[in-house]
Amino acid sequence: MSSNTLYRKYRPQTFADLIGQEHIAHTLLSEIQKSQISHAYLFSGPRGVGKTTTARLLAKAINCLKPKNGEPDNQCEACMSITQGRALDILEIDAASYTGVDNIREVIEHSRFTPSNLKYKVFIVDEVHMLSTAAFNALLKTLEEPPAHALFVLATTEIHKVPETIQSRCQKFDFHRIPAEALARRLRMIVKQENFTVDDNVIEEIVRLADGSSRDAESVLGQVFALGEKKITLEQADLVLPRSNQAAVEQLILSILTNDRAAALKNLSAQVENGIDLEAYRNDIIRTLRDGLLYRVVSPNLRPQMQPNLAEALNAFTPLKIVKLLEIFLSIQQYILASPLPQLPLELAVIESTSEKLGTQTPDPLPESKTKPIETQTENAAADLNLIQIWEQMMEEVSRKAPALALSLKMVRPKSLSQDELQIVCPFTLHVEKLNAPKARALLAEAAKSIIGKKAKVILELDLNARLDNVNLKSQNSYPPKPVSQETKSGPRNSADQLWDKIVNAFEG
Ligand SMILES: [Zn+2]
Repeated sequence: MSSNTLYRKYRPQTFADLIGQEHIAHTLLSEIQKSQISHAYLFSGPRGVGKTTTARLLAKAINCLKPKNGEPDNQCEACMSITQGRALDILEIDAASYTGVDNIREVIEHSRFTPSNLKYKVFIVDEVHMLSTAAFNALLKTLEEPPAHALFVLATTEIHKVPETIQSRCQKFDFHRIPAEALARRLRMIVKQENFTVDDNVIEEIVRLADGSSRDAESVLGQVFALGEKKITLEQADLVLPRSNQAAVEQLILSILTNDRAAALKNLSAQVENGIDLEAYRNDIIRTLRDGLLYRVVSPNLRPQMQPNLAEALNAFTPLKIVKLLEIFLSIQQYILASPLPQLPLELAVIESTSEKLGTQTPDPLPESKTKPIETQTENAAADLNLIQIWEQMMEEVSRKAPALALSLKMVRPKSLSQDELQIVCPFTLHVEKLNAPKARALLAEAAKSIIGKKAKVILELDLNARLDNVNLKSQNSYPPKPVSQETKSGPRNSADQLWDKIVNAFEG
């Protein structure tokens, strides 16, 4: 079975069949129903997510002799000729092979003539960003005064390379990667139609590899079918799936996180002996670290698909340290192919990742509070500790009242608490803006008052150097925010009171 057979065979023939692009299907259908179609569309988005398929659907829907609610009937002569690729009025141009201005001129010349059979002539220009400047200029002239019977659908994976003048003449649609769940559903449908049995973990692996591209997913599924077995397990699929060993990848990261350099290097050399594709291995390390980072920063209550002890280990690391690991593994890409020993760059990355400075999990010392310092160093440290407790309680209280602020609260850290001011810093503009909104400010002030027991002004500042270490690490454990129990309320509140008294004494005395 050739790799594109399934993609062609199961190409959606109605807008209702399109997956992952419901927002576009909905708008197009409504335009077709109202006969308000544009003369030029620009479809942008990753490869294999349905841009050309949608262009063909559009061509069919506007030419169909018996459309139903905007959908093509797929039975009339117009529909049949388009489906079978024999309609003279539908022109598909691959701009990657049509960069010459002469070729596009020919096409444009062609657009002047009335359609030979259909209502509309449709020009589908794929990878339109590949056109030369001269070709774009010629196209622009046509788009400025499009013939009434012509429709242009331009598709691109790199919209930033399409001139603004062209973009402004088109109705634009942004195609999305297809969600994993929708893609898996589609693959299962095809498996059933083709009378195969494919294990769920094979489907999951294909979906993971396809990264939102329906074309890629179906191409890999086609290769799996080609194995010649009616019932396919992951072990069999492994023969054709371009995968590295995920379990080994996770074990390697775990060794790095636990600073076990010897185990990490041993893991690596075992992979080299197995003849694994080192670039794929590195990519899997990066993907797994990224999953871990998202888990850590965005959705701590949603465990990613990885072994539980790795998720646990990741949870003990600050996001910035995971970012650092990502940077190390990203930086070696160019060296893997060029190195006389292909495994050397990976080994160096492992050594750097497990270096003393990065691997240590001892909390970094807390930054000194610079404004209005308290008498001595020791007291300062104690004060900072209490500051964290105060802040944690504030976070809990505000998150409970406004869960939407929970993430932003995690991205900031308290800097200092002076007589009437609680200073908070954050390295991200977005979160500063969110927390500076009137409602958020009111909630923060309210929480500060209820926890410190006195009115304090909450000052939020953007500080690009603000570190996100200890405070966030602790607070992650309490997500989603738990209601404050009576016990924790009374405990730290007392110490907060003591702190407050100490501060006041320091200034008055
Ligand atoms: Zn039709």
